[in-house]
Amino acid sequence: MNTEGLQSSRLEEIFAKVDANEDLTKEDALELLSINNQSADFYTLIQKANELSRKEFGQRGYVFAQIGLNSAPCTGNCKFCSLGKDNFVAEEKSEKSLEEILQQARWIVEEKADALFLMTTADYSIEKFLQIAKEVKKLLPEDMMFIANIGDFNEDTAVRLKEAGFTGVYHIVRMNEGIDTDLPVEKRIATLDALKNAGLELIYCVEPIGPEHTYGQIADEMLRARAYDVNVMACMKRVGVPGTPLYEKGEITDLELTKIAAAARLVTRPKKSMNVHEPKAMALIAGVNQLYAEVGMNPRDVNAETGNGRGFSIQNVKDMLAQAEYVTRA
Ligand code: SF4
Repeated sequence: MNTEGLQSSRLEEIFAKVDANEDLTKEDALELLSINNQSADFYTLIQKANELSRKEFGQRGYVFAQIGLNSAPCTGNCKFCSLGKDNFVAEEKSEKSLEEILQQARWIVEEKADALFLMTTADYSIEKFLQIAKEVKKLLPEDMMFIANIGDFNEDTAVRLKEAGFTGVYHIVRMNEGIDTDLPVEKRIATLDALKNAGLELIYCVEPIGPEHTYGQIADEMLRARAYDVNVMACMKRVGVPGTPLYEKGEITDLELTKIAAAARLVTRPKKSMNVHEPKAMALIAGVNQLYAEVGMNPRDVNAETGNGRGFSIQNVKDMLAQAEYVTRA
């Protein structure tokens, strides 16, 4: 850790680059991430990220809503996930019917979310997914983002996702991908390239961050997101699910996540919104202007209906954004 004085002058240098719209380097990112959470510089960073979001995003807050379509042992086999095939700890296997999905999509539209995400495990049938998507799309207003969150795919599938009405895809290289997951990094990158080549918007996130991950790894994903020119960026901490292999490694604090989000705001420079997941009120003073509501299954919950478990409702997150004086879609 640098001394307080040295750190501050280095911060000034980094902030001057931000003001000049110059790209920050990995070293800059590491400097920001290494700030002591109990120092004055921590608040300087938070302030800068907040200033940038308020300046570039105005008071606009965004609510994204995700429906998890199924719960089943997944060959992605991620060691943090309640659905990994070797450590399936979800309360049950389940799959939503088309009618249930349409009902939840209608509700999400009525509640005026800005984006609807459909999420599945990696092995879910792409044909079924595309059929469902086409029906869901009919319910959505023209300007609503429609995002797929599924396993890896090639360019042909990317084109079909676009034809089905998706505007974008949530896809990432996870922390310790290929080590804590059964999915090779190259395959994840090939999917990122496929979706971009098909003209779909990439929604990126540094996740799932645990205490064992280095700032170097975290910075690399911020820079990867910037290389893909994202509009929408996020950071998510790993939620320890009892019974999963990484549970014992513990979790980072909300304060640490808030610092990482502030750093990501400055390093990645998303053009539309910045998120932390799961929703944290404190991150809303650190440049975050977007939160997720969730229904159905999610990898951080054992409850097949996360709306009754860890998931936040659309109204919950709208209220949180309003308390931070962000205005959501009326
Ligand atoms: S995080 Fe996704 S890919 Fe990994 S095991 Fe869970 S559902 Fe499968």
